[in-house]
Amino acid sequence: MRQQVIHNYINGDFATPISGKYLDVSEPATGHTYCLLPDAEEEDVEKAYQAAEKAFPLWSSTTKEERSNILLNIANGIEQQLEKLALAETKDNGKPLSLSKTVDIPRAATNFRFFATAILHFASESHAMEEGIINYTLRKPIGVVGCISPWNLPLYLFTWKIAPALAAGNCVVAKPSEITPMTAFLLSEICMQAGLPPGVLNIVHGLGAKVGNAIVQHPKIAAISFTGGTATGAHIAKVAAPMFKKLSLELGGKNATIIFDDCDYENMLNTVVKSAFSNQGQICLCGSRIFIERPLYEKFKHDFIQKVAQLKVGDPLEETSQVGALVSEQHLNKVISYINLAKEEGGKVLTGGNRIQLDGRCISGWFLAPTVIEGLPYHCRTNQEEIFGPVVTIAPFDTEEEVVQWANSTPYGLACSLWTNNLSRAHQMSDCIQTGIVWVNCWMVRDLRTPFGGMKQSGVGREGGWEALRFFTEPKNVCIKYG
Ligand code: NAD
Repeated sequence: MRQQVIHNYINGDFATPISGKYLDVSEPATGHTYCLLPDAEEEDVEKAYQAAEKAFPLWSSTTKEERSNILLNIANGIEQQLEKLALAETKDNGKPLSLSKTVDIPRAATNFRFFATAILHFASESHAMEEGIINYTLRKPIGVVGCISPWNLPLYLFTWKIAPALAAGNCVVAKPSEITPMTAFLLSEICMQAGLPPGVLNIVHGLGAKVGNAIVQHPKIAAISFTGGTATGAHIAKVAAPMFKKLSLELGGKNATIIFDDCDYENMLNTVVKSAFSNQGQICLCGSRIFIERPLYEKFKHDFIQKVAQLKVGDPLEETSQVGALVSEQHLNKVISYINLAKEEGGKVLTGGNRIQLDGRCISGWFLAPTVIEGLPYHCRTNQEEIFGPVVTIAPFDTEEEVVQWANSTPYGLACSLWTNNLSRAHQMSDCIQTGIVWVNCWMVRDLRTPFGGMKQSGVGREGGWEALRFFTEPKNVCIKYG
């Protein structure tokens, strides 16, 4: 069977890699290679930069209404191809088709629609002084910017960066994850049909160490918006800092879920199963350390394990599958190594802990049973390091002070989910938790206007709403004395 071939998208057209080399892309559910990806290099990034630089004067001087219309066309294009894109995302990533259809692809369209309309309302500040002086701040597009995204929510996170960058009038050189490149490739077709001028968006495919690095090292790409692992983020910061690039870094997490005895139990239980295992636990916002107030611990443990054991691990293309395949064999092995580590550290596996072999086309797929572990102290490696898979720990706590200390003990600070009906406790705890996002009695409820991002090693800067449009613009203050 002939394999599908992905192309770079440069200067409004498809482009083969200059080297002529390609990489294999696998389908996690089957474990087999199914398409080829350009193994692009620095020269391809340079070609993309040249196209973006050439397109910038015109794109940055179009009216915001014109840009808005084109981005809305892209949003419509994504919606019209929802089924095709959802299927592609599931094949590439291993996530259940139901998730691709209801979360990943709709959100990619929403990202474009949100920033297409946000730019129409984006305003800059003015500061009047008493003595006949006024300051006004101009916000100009930066120029050519780089957007680099991970594999866990491929089109969702790719568009979350590209849409505000384009809306603000920048031209973009972008790189999706080499592990899940297909929907970014399909997006380039949609952009061509939507009337996006050549060179405004360029997508270069390939390895992080080659393509990603070339984007970050490029002396004229003035800002980098990156989502991915903390170690990669640290490398990017080191390379970019001496060039004084603007940086937005959305990195790893080790999120706590804190459950009090007074919560709305049924709602909590159903949501915590989702917050632990959605997308096979491969969402940076998943709660992987679950702390339960002691009086509720045994009941929660019993009910939670029962529900988790009932989750259907299956072919992600089947409507009934709730848990799909992990994204790669390498990642599966990493997650399994953490289950082994948890056992070495004294943890007891309450459910899961094993690889699952399905029948039929998925016989060689990368499936893992959702895993719950107890008996581990908050400071052990299993509870401090990001696993990024369907593995959670549970532990009882006695006091608010204790659980806040445990929650804040990791080097990360992305998100936290709190379950309580005590209003003052909810406010007080939200104030003390060191994360960029706190959800109370809910999880992953997203208003795209709110600042999104993490503290500590979970990142630098915030995405979403005005934060993103401010990141992708350069403020210039003009001070006029008229008195
Ligand atoms: P990763 O850091 O390995 O890769 C992310 C992207 O960076 C990929 O496109 C990769 O090719 C590229 N890259 C790799 N090395 C590079 C380099 N030297 N220079 C430039 N680019 C390079 O991360 P991943 O494994 O794809 O994604 C999983 C990680 O992403 C997890 O740690 C997860 O928590 C994090 N994540 C964070 C958020 C958030 O919003 N904070 C969201 C999703 C995922």
